[in-house]
Order: sequence, then C-alpha cells, then structure tokens
Amino acid sequence: MKHINIPIFVPHEGCPHDCSFCNQKRITGITRRESENEIKNRIENIINSVKDERYIEIAFFGGSFTGIEEARQKKLLSIAAEYLEKGKINGIRLSTRPDYISAHILNYLEDYGVSDIELGVQSMDDEVLLANNRGHDAHCVAEASTLIKSYGAFRLGLQQMPGLYMSNPEKDIISAKKIAELKPDNTRIYPTIILENTRLYDLYIHNEYEPYSLEKAVFVSGEIYKICMQSGINVIRIGLQSTDIVNEKKVYGPYHSSFGELVLSRVLRDEIEVEVEKNRRNFTVFAPRNMISKVTGNKKSNILYFKEKYAIKMKVCEDNKLCNFFVTFD
Ligand code: SF4
Repeated sequence: MKHINIPIFVPHEGCPHDCSFCNQKRITGITRRESENEIKNRIENIINSVKDERYIEIAFFGGSFTGIEEARQKKLLSIAAEYLEKGKINGIRLSTRPDYISAHILNYLEDYGVSDIELGVQSMDDEVLLANNRGHDAHCVAEASTLIKSYGAFRLGLQQMPGLYMSNPEKDIISAKKIAELKPDNTRIYPTIILENTRLYDLYIHNEYEPYSLEKAVFVSGEIYKICMQSGINVIRIGLQSTDIVNEKKVYGPYHSSFGELVLSRVLRDEIEVEVEKNRRNFTVFAPRNMISKVTGNKKSNILYFKEKYAIKMKVCEDNKLCNFFVTFD
C-alpha cells in the first residue's frame, strides 16, 4: 500500500548540541510553531484529500522530538493519537537522537501509539562521532536501539551519514555493517553535504575537510545499500530531498537532486557486471518499465561504462511481464 506522510515540523528549539553538519539557525530561525488548530487543519485537509486506500502516517520532523519539553511532546502526540484512535491514520512517526531515548520516554511514546522511531545515528565510529560533535557514542546507539526493539511496539529506523569529517569509505562501510547488526527495520542514507554557517563549512573553506566527490558518495552509498539489502533492512531514502535550503545552489559537496537514482543505477551496474565478467560479449538487459532508467543509468552512464571498459554493446529492452531484470548475451 502506498504511504502518505503528514509532516508536522517541530523545530528543535535550543538544541544544546553543535553537530558539525548542522546549521541550527536554519533549523530554528526560519520556522515558527504551528498552532494546534493549524496542525489539525492541515491533518484534516490531507486526510480528506486521500481518495484511495493508503497507509497514512503523521510524521514529526525537524529535530529531536524527544528532546523538546515533555509537556509539548505529549500535546503533539495527543493530537496525532486522536486521529489514530479514530482510524483516520495508520501510524505515528518521529525522529530523535539516540541519547534522548529512555524507558520513561518509550513508555509514553507507546501509550500514544507511536509506531516508528528513527534515530539519527550518522556513524558507528566513535572517532567520527567525536570529531563531528555528535555528543554520543556508538555504544549509546546500540543501547537505544536494543531498548526500542525490546518493546516490540515500534519499528526502528537508523539514519546514517557517510562522508562525515574524519570518516572514509572503509569506516562508513564498517559503520553500515554495525548498523545492520542492530537489525533496524529501515534506514535512510544521507551522504554528508555542507551547509554554510556550520563547523563543517569552516573546516571545508580552510581545507581541513574534503567532502566526498559525487562519484565516491554514490559508490559508498551503493555499498551501504547492498549491506542493507543483504540484511533485509528497508532503505527508505537515499540522499536528501531538494528543498529551499538544500539544493545544488545552496550546498557544497556531493549533492544531486536524483542521488538515490544514481546509487540504484550503480548497484544495478555492479550486478550486471558480474554477468558481463563471465561472458564479455554484447548483451541485452530486459527490465520492467520502472527499472529502465536505472538499468540505463543517468545520461546512459551504464551503457557508456560497458562500452568503455569492455568495448561491448549493452542494449536495454522493456519487458513489463518481468518484476526484475535479466541479461542475455549475443
Ligand atoms: S543535528 Fe545535532 S545540532 Fe542539529 S538539531 Fe540535531 S542534535 Fe542539534
């Protein structure tokens, strides 16, 4: 069933942390608190606009939900719980920090019917976490994840950020394996990009931090994606969505508006290459319509790759009877 998210932006006012990649002014400076009525109106409008059967969830975005004052959390949760109880939505999602999880917090999240908790993990390498001022270590992530899973009431999501300051592809891949060992239900892969007015930006302009190139970020994210697939972890997003704040003109580093597509295309190329290595002849890839652009690659990059590396021709044919691709050789 298709998902519909009803986002409720909860700026994390007065966050005591100073993560290297975060521009708190942008997070807190351009938003204001929505009133209860505004939130309810928005929820109702979205619910009323849904015509077919959908999985609808209210999602609290914009910071560390469980870091805001408890009374306000409960006020917001009670609004969402009302729609859940009436059967108008199917779930409540929120994101927070691993060190803002405790039995006390999880008890009331469970009472209000929260279904999905996402933790901003970013890395499982303590050196990287320290260098980026995250304010928690990898052990804290493991403890919070285990505690959340022990309730059996929540789906667990762990967000990861390859390419942070003091990281490298090897560390990011080890980190992804450690995340997979925690058996989250889902993950988001957000390669590090640089916003102005952040510590990362200062390091960047002083040549102390080199962000991943787009190619490296695609490769590392692809490797992380494969680890998640092998571990049965649902990857719900790869790369940041384009917004007024995050777009090609406003950020530095490996940002691309179709980053996820680039990664999936690279992963498919790797799978096809396993076959090509064995045959090394011209070949055709048959795939359903929704896979054609990924098989072909951005600007035909996969076709060009095989032409340049193996001097062979790759053809792509649509076959909508298939649910996956397959390769035949001439
Ligand atoms: S990313 Fe770090 S600094 Fe930014 S709001 Fe979250 S915890 Fe605070």
